[in-house]
Amino acid sequence: MNSLMIKGRAGSPGYAIGKLYVYKRRRLQSKKYKITDTDKEYSRFEAAKEAALKGIEDLYQRTRTAAGASNADIFSAQSMILKDEDYIKKIRDNIVDEKKNAEWAVSDASRFFYEIFSSLEDESVRAKAIDLKDVSNNLISLLTDTGSDIDIKEPVIFAADYILPGEFIQIDKGMIKGIVMAEGSAYSHVVILAKTLGIPVVLGPGIKSSLSGRETLINGNEGTVVVSPDEQMRKEYLSLIDKERIYRTGLKEYKGRKAVTGEGKQIQIFANVGSLADVKEAIDNDCEAVGLVRTEFMFLERDKLPTEEDHYRAYKEIVEAMNGKPVVFRTMDIGADKKMLSYKHIHEENPALGKRAIRICITDKEIFIPQLKGILRAARHGDVSVMYPMIISKTEVLKINNIMEEAVEELEAAGLEYGEVKKGVMIETPAAALISDELASMVDFMSIGTNDLTQYTLALDRANSELAPFYDPYHEGVFKLIKYTVDNAHKAGIKVAVCGELAADTKITRQLMDLGVDALSVSPRRILELKRFICNL
Ligand code: PEP
Ligand code: MG
Repeated sequence: MNSLMIKGRAGSPGYAIGKLYVYKRRRLQSKKYKITDTDKEYSRFEAAKEAALKGIEDLYQRTRTAAGASNADIFSAQSMILKDEDYIKKIRDNIVDEKKNAEWAVSDASRFFYEIFSSLEDESVRAKAIDLKDVSNNLISLLTDTGSDIDIKEPVIFAADYILPGEFIQIDKGMIKGIVMAEGSAYSHVVILAKTLGIPVVLGPGIKSSLSGRETLINGNEGTVVVSPDEQMRKEYLSLIDKERIYRTGLKEYKGRKAVTGEGKQIQIFANVGSLADVKEAIDNDCEAVGLVRTEFMFLERDKLPTEEDHYRAYKEIVEAMNGKPVVFRTMDIGADKKMLSYKHIHEENPALGKRAIRICITDKEIFIPQLKGILRAARHGDVSVMYPMIISKTEVLKINNIMEEAVEELEAAGLEYGEVKKGVMIETPAAALISDELASMVDFMSIGTNDLTQYTLALDRANSELAPFYDPYHEGVFKLIKYTVDNAHKAGIKVAVCGELAADTKITRQLMDLGVDALSVSPRRILELKRFICNL
């Protein structure tokens, strides 16, 4: 059989080999007819809606167990659609005024809102269109009594035009070696879930049903699919899969070991995380602490601002997972290239120099105070610090301290328990580095964000790939600012970490250690590699 190579896009990293299972979704038999008893039809719809809400609650619990609360929030978003006034009103009007049967009323409302969502530019809003489809198809299948017909008997490479989160979570994950999905983006819920579960995904190619059953390779790093590979390709992939396994197993030797050089110099290795799933990976890779929780995950992909309770619930889960090891929560860093749906971002000519991070928090306390209260309450469950991004002045730190006091007063007035938190600033603007002597006397620790420190020192937009030829990650100016910050921190008797990408760059590990940096905070997958490197210095 001839081999067939199909190019797509990378979705979730990793390699897989297995039999192809091409899933063609059965068209839902939603007959369209006019009704006379509108009350009876609307009750039929309401019964289906109640059953769907129960089903979603069950999926929420299952996802929470498999992949953590933040991933399970997909299903909170779906139950919000089922309770959405506009969606329900459209269905009701279809039944009551247009006399459409319930299935027709739902599919019509689904198409109406799907077109609106999927025409929007923002990819994360477009992902909502998939939720809407999922919710509506589920309602129609409840109304017509047709369930999903996915039937997998052995581990496969699963290919489909799209996979609904509800379908994905119901498939036994041991049965999916990899996924090829024609529609979808890195924001698709299924792709995020697959990444959490370590399942490679290729996006883009539509696969013909006639290819079902053929042996297939997928490369989630490069986004390629090879159906019926020749012997040489097969061997290559098997060896890649094996190499990755051996590499990962070899690194495991470094679990439980400290990062100490041959001469006995030690540095701490922390993890940077952006979800509970990352925390699990960080623990698996033996991190000593979480040095940076990017809390933006609480704000992105939501159409309402997170409440104090939302913050508390998510942070408590992270703190408890760390089981007594320190966790540093960085307060919200939205703005520049990261936009919230729930916030009216003003138009800015220069967003990287605009209303971002602490600048939003200081001006909009309704965003900041619930987050601070959530962190303070989570501190009762472990060793918690809070850290502020994009600081440029002492006045900002004083303002933040006042807001922090307000948050504490509100908790006390409400009789809610909270814990002690240590306070730190990120040094990621040249201004902060240059006044690090004064900032050091106001906080308990500092962390150098080299991604932004480099961007702002070199005046080079980090998101603009056109500027790559001008970008020098090892610019001497940045190293001078790091050295000045470390010296000032130590003079004030506090510790300093580096948490930007440079922290994981082994070309400069020795230099950072020589400068006296106390800890390197890196993405969970890099922890053991970095430890091995340091132990062999
Ligand atoms: C940094 O700027 O180095 C940093 C760690 O923060 P972020 O990459 O989230 O902006
Ligand atoms: Mg930063």
